[in-house]
Amino acid sequence: MTDRDILQHFIGGKLRASNSGRFSEVFDPATGAVTKMVGLASIEEVDEAVSAAETAFETWGDSSLAQRTKVLFRFREILEARADEVARLITSEHGKVFSDALGEVRRGQEVVEFACGISSLLKSSLSDQVSREVDTYSIRQPLGVVAGITPFNFPSMVPMWMFPIAIAAGNTFILKPSERDPSASLLLAEMFAEAGLPDGVFNVVQGDKVAVDRILAHPAIRAVSFVGSTPIAKYIYETAASNGKRVQALGGAKNHMVVLPDADLDHAADSAVSAAYGSAGERCMAISVLVAVGGIADELVDKIASRMKGLKIGPGVDPSSEMGPLVTRVHRDRVASYIGSANDDGATVLVDGREHPLYGAEGGFFLGASLVDNVTTDMAVYKDEIFGPVLSVVRVDDFDDAIRLVNSNQYANGAAIFTRNGGAARKFQRKISAGMVGINVPIPVPVAYYSFGGAKDSLFGDSHVHGDEGVKFYTRVKAVTARWAEEHIAGVDYGFPQNQ
Ligand code: NAD
Repeated sequence: MTDRDILQHFIGGKLRASNSGRFSEVFDPATGAVTKMVGLASIEEVDEAVSAAETAFETWGDSSLAQRTKVLFRFREILEARADEVARLITSEHGKVFSDALGEVRRGQEVVEFACGISSLLKSSLSDQVSREVDTYSIRQPLGVVAGITPFNFPSMVPMWMFPIAIAAGNTFILKPSERDPSASLLLAEMFAEAGLPDGVFNVVQGDKVAVDRILAHPAIRAVSFVGSTPIAKYIYETAASNGKRVQALGGAKNHMVVLPDADLDHAADSAVSAAYGSAGERCMAISVLVAVGGIADELVDKIASRMKGLKIGPGVDPSSEMGPLVTRVHRDRVASYIGSANDDGATVLVDGREHPLYGAEGGFFLGASLVDNVTTDMAVYKDEIFGPVLSVVRVDDFDDAIRLVNSNQYANGAAIFTRNGGAARKFQRKISAGMVGINVPIPVPVAYYSFGGAKDSLFGDSHVHGDEGVKFYTRVKAVTARWAEEHIAGVDYGFPQNQ
């Protein structure tokens, strides 16, 4: 391994090697080989990034909307032209198939396109003549230095949920990506710099808990956005808030797909297979529980099982692969253990991913797709977020049972319903506890100009990411009351000012 294979930070517009002496291995999940190392930041290295971002804020925070918009548009063009490069890096470190990696880059790009409209997004309101010769209006201003801490499963899209809007709004940004697939962030930072972003506006600090804890404690960091697992999201929320920071922390998920007896079962089966096994189930919006309502369960389960026979599993770089490996061996083994536990708990393992020939093979972190029927809510396979290619089927008698089941779950990220009945769909949309609802859509990830986020243990804080909520999160409102009179009316008034 040469110095080129040791991933660095990006601070103040330059790559910068870590001196901490601490490293983490980066794997190619398709071969199991360690392909790179990433240097993990010390407290001093985080401080260096914050100080670069503070200096950059002095000018970027005062730059015009026109200047910022131009840089955003140029970044969008570079990303459009080089999306394949980002996707290839993602496949090489995360393992997901190339088309899936490209899909996440494009969804991240949608947020960049949304942020290109920052001039309209920051328009505020003015009330003329609220009192004699007095107008009141509000302005939205950047917070200063803000930070993002992101998970392994979307190494480009999740950072792009955050930094394009934060930077367009005039903030400077520190990104702490996942140490498991850190390269995509560096490439995005280099592209943004090439687009003309001044040094220090966007910094990438590679690291682990040491870096995260420094971000949470650093007094100059005004806001923290986090996406990752629930226990860490809760920790981030509590720690950042107790240090006086604005914080949004998105956590884990267990997304249910309810299929009513009147649904198009072929459409439902296609959707369930795509949403459960795409990206090897390592999506926070993956469907992990299928709720079969009434008498359709046997037919639906048969249709799903027959589609699974055609699923092609292999390295993400092979264009014929539809599902790649899992991110690490430890994670793959943890996911596989749930298939055993489901069997022990009395569920019916209809398709066992451990029987796939690549599971036992040397090298990559592969596991076949699994389908588990007759799951009940007391089983670990139902209760825990597995984050792998395992679909549980829970059978319920009627629609109200289905709603009760979904609403009793600790997570509330996404939920989907498949039906031909508009009234049932509308009832689901109104009654279900989830931040994002799909109607005949299994993965209802909203477009960039709407916001993304869940409820309950899937989101700590009150703000979703991107859309208007993202703009709001990264800006602070100031209300201005201004009197411009042609002549000052003389006199002192000690009473509380009344509008007249
Ligand atoms: P993770 O929680 O292990 O890591 C997320 C980030 O937190 C990483 O940058 C990591 O370095 C850091 N981190 C890990 N342990 C830490 C600790 N003890 N203290 C401080 N920081 C720590 O999550 P992951 O495994 O990378 O990602 C998968 C998880 O993310 C799943 O639970 C998934 O549901 C969730 N996720 C949620 C959403 C959403 O929108 N709700 C989106 C994507 C992923």
